[in-house]
Amino acid sequence: MRQHDVQELNRILFSALETSLVGTSGHDLINRLYHGTTVNQIVCKECKNVSEKQEDFLDLTVTVKNVSGLEDALWNMYVEEEVFDSDNLYHCGTCDRLVKAAKSAKLRKLPPFLTVSLLRFNFDFVKCERYKETSCYTFPLRINLKPFCEQSELDDLEYIYDLFSVIIHKGGCYGGHYHVYIKDVDHLGNWQFQEEKSKPDVNLKDLQNEEEIDDPLMILKTILLQEESNLIPVDQLGQKLLKKIGISWNKKYRKQYGPLRKFLQLHSQTFLLSSDESTVRLLKNSSLQAEPDFQRNDQQIFKTLPSESPGFNGRTSCPHWFDINDSKVQPIKEKDIQQQFQGKESAYMLFYRKSQLQRPPEARGNPRYRVPRHLLSEMDATNIELQTKRAECDSTENNFELHLHLGPHYHFFNGALHPVGSQTESVWDLTFDKRKTLGDLRQSIFQLLEFWEGDMVLSVAKLLPAGLHVYQTLDGDSLTLSEIELADGEDIFVWNGVEVGGIQIPTGSDCEPLLLNVLHLATSSEGEKCQQLIEFPHVFPSNAEVGTVFTSLAIPGGVVLINNTESIGEKNWTTIPKVDLKKTFREQGLRNGSSILIRDSNHDNSWLTKQEKWITSMNEIDWLQVKNLCELESEEEQVKISTTVNTVVFDIRIKAIQELKLMKELAENSCLRPIDRNGKLLCPVPDNYTLKEAGLKMGSSLGLCPGRAPTSSQLFLFFAVGSDVQPGTEMEIIVEETLSVRDCLKIMLEKSGLLGDAWHLRKMDWCYEAGEPLCDEDATLKELTICSGDTLLLIEGKLPPLGFLTVPIWWYQPQHPSGHWKSHQDRRNCTPSQGGIWRAISSQGAPGDAHAEVSLHYLGDIDISEDATLMELKSQAMTLPSFSEFVIPSPAFLRAWTVESKRPSRLLRADQQQLKEYKLGRRTEICLEPLQKEENLG
Ligand SMILES: [Zn+2]
Repeated sequence: MRQHDVQELNRILFSALETSLVGTSGHDLINRLYHGTTVNQIVCKECKNVSEKQEDFLDLTVTVKNVSGLEDALWNMYVEEEVFDSDNLYHCGTCDRLVKAAKSAKLRKLPPFLTVSLLRFNFDFVKCERYKETSCYTFPLRINLKPFCEQSELDDLEYIYDLFSVIIHKGGCYGGHYHVYIKDVDHLGNWQFQEEKSKPDVNLKDLQNEEEIDDPLMILKTILLQEESNLIPVDQLGQKLLKKIGISWNKKYRKQYGPLRKFLQLHSQTFLLSSDESTVRLLKNSSLQAEPDFQRNDQQIFKTLPSESPGFNGRTSCPHWFDINDSKVQPIKEKDIQQQFQGKESAYMLFYRKSQLQRPPEARGNPRYRVPRHLLSEMDATNIELQTKRAECDSTENNFELHLHLGPHYHFFNGALHPVGSQTESVWDLTFDKRKTLGDLRQSIFQLLEFWEGDMVLSVAKLLPAGLHVYQTLDGDSLTLSEIELADGEDIFVWNGVEVGGIQIPTGSDCEPLLLNVLHLATSSEGEKCQQLIEFPHVFPSNAEVGTVFTSLAIPGGVVLINNTESIGEKNWTTIPKVDLKKTFREQGLRNGSSILIRDSNHDNSWLTKQEKWITSMNEIDWLQVKNLCELESEEEQVKISTTVNTVVFDIRIKAIQELKLMKELAENSCLRPIDRNGKLLCPVPDNYTLKEAGLKMGSSLGLCPGRAPTSSQLFLFFAVGSDVQPGTEMEIIVEETLSVRDCLKIMLEKSGLLGDAWHLRKMDWCYEAGEPLCDEDATLKELTICSGDTLLLIEGKLPPLGFLTVPIWWYQPQHPSGHWKSHQDRRNCTPSQGGIWRAISSQGAPGDAHAEVSLHYLGDIDISEDATLMELKSQAMTLPSFSEFVIPSPAFLRAWTVESKRPSRLLRADQQQLKEYKLGRRTEICLEPLQKEENLG
């Protein structure tokens, strides 16, 4: 993730490669390929002694400043001699005196691959800043290094090197971007060359005569030549063609040449379609004009090339260069390299290879040449995986599902189309590529429906509440499905475009069928008392006049009221004035599901209120579910009983017993109990209640349970032992509401199998916790407003006498890492009076901190008068036997908190305040926290 200079990166990369190749046959690969040596020599002019120092290199660094090019730089480095003369003499070790001498450097060993780094980044010592040298620095495609090397016996050809890669830096000295030119030595890449933008200009003349227009190849080529990269999406090509010649491909050429895409495919020597056939490009040699001679140009540009340069005679060896720039790889011409001689974007590293390193002919165009077999198979597997992924991605991207509704399997009635037989017969699902054309789709459907005869019209259809409705017909067979904006999951009606089952069907959005709820209030001959309301759905075309209801429903006439809201109430009905009966349903704002009410004549409006009630109850007729819970061993049966809100519970119970085919005796000894969403059986519903009175919602579940429902003077109660009640584990009891708390407690203890009198009752609150105790044991349940369905909890501990509180006392020791109270046994030799042992209690353990560990230790209950002060409570608590464990000098060193949910909750501050002023409950729990000396509340 770090930004490196590319030279630095090159070295890091080489070193990483070397490290990774240790112990393999390639351990010296980097050395073999890139390592070279230079030698620095100083020759004494007196004794001719040569002092020599050899240096290794992996890349040669050459200066750019004040140098015209690579050869110039090498000349300076390896040909020019530095002479030590006059006042700058050299000390010769042999002569042991200052002498004249000559210093020179030479290349000694040349690596097969020579890397040259250009010193484009320099430091300006005057301005004290880095700068990038942007001056022109040429380098040849081929270089002879012999002049820069030591003399040797090597063949001259050993010194010839060819450029094969150039790293280019674009930007300044503080940042920029690298890309690279690489010669494709083996011709592995697709060097399909694109024309230079300026070249085709001659071809852009407008096509004027008929002859040219008649040649689609010419026109398409012209269009493509005008495109920046000679590349264009196929869809756009069609549009450009239309624009250019004023007539579409389909109208002009399709008959003769077939679809555009096919035409492009057929002329593959001219056009190159992308693999997904979405874009097309003009091939290089298809230019309307002859190509200029590249070779001649190249020769002129690279003047530094030795004239005997091989590889430039004959087209076949034309070097393939690519510009690799992040993910973009483009073919370039060799002569383009010279553009990188200078400027902000210029060559930065050069890579030459010994020209004698000839690649064998079998390597040409063969990317698998000498790649180890295991790597090839790994590569193949990866490629297959990639292709599968691409295909998957392609199909999810481009395939969509169409639902074909086959006309011959439909018939038209009640204003819309409905399938004659089954769904599978009438609707066929078809997965189709949306890049294909409508013509392709039609062909596929023809193949799919072998039976089809005659014309085939494809129309967009929609499933409406009234049924299937047909909209516009699809047109333009050469257009792709995405161009005609078909959506995924679209319904297509396949028909002959005229009739369905002999009936001409209405199409288009104007006449969309509306499914309306019609209420017809007809007064019979016997007068208003026998008004009859009929409710039924009916379909009307949305562009029909409202007045047509009478004719289509065969009603002689009357008044029409409409209601666009979902609820049916008097104020939501609007009478349509007679003049507006000519308006259409749509104009009246009616939608699917809207209601219209028709009555015979304009009576006084009292009917509406009456009728509304009736309609309301009509609409609310619904059902309840009754489960048989009488025989637990048998399978759970259930029945649906239809009811209205006014149905009496008794009727439902009897009906359920009948439908569940249970014994008639159960009628005398069973009850219905609502089942809540957690499956818990609630309090039985009295038989004489209506559903409304019982607060039962439609669709809810009831359990048919053994045992009678409580009478109106009885209470059905849940009860449990302790305050930690698991929902659903409560016991149940039916008691008279005049029962006293004391007697109720007694019955519940009996039922729970508990003994003793150290218990009291509390009512469970809505969050499943024990609430206030039922203190007045002589009061009746009714007086204490205990209701059916309430849960009472049996809690251990006797209630204190009136005016007294029973206070459970807890010991609260905040957890503290360093100092805290321990039992006196632990600190026997360290009494509090000696001081220093009551250290600060950290805020970490503060009771209010919900995350802090809290542990309360129960000490016992104390009974205390409500008139007592908090100080008296603390004193009395200290008399508890279990308190003797702690050493507390006085009650002032205790802090009192109320306890809720087993945590300290409210801090009781004033010691002299009476307990009743704190409004403590009858059994409020208190915890006592030890204080250090300094913290003494007083
Ligand atoms: Zn000497």
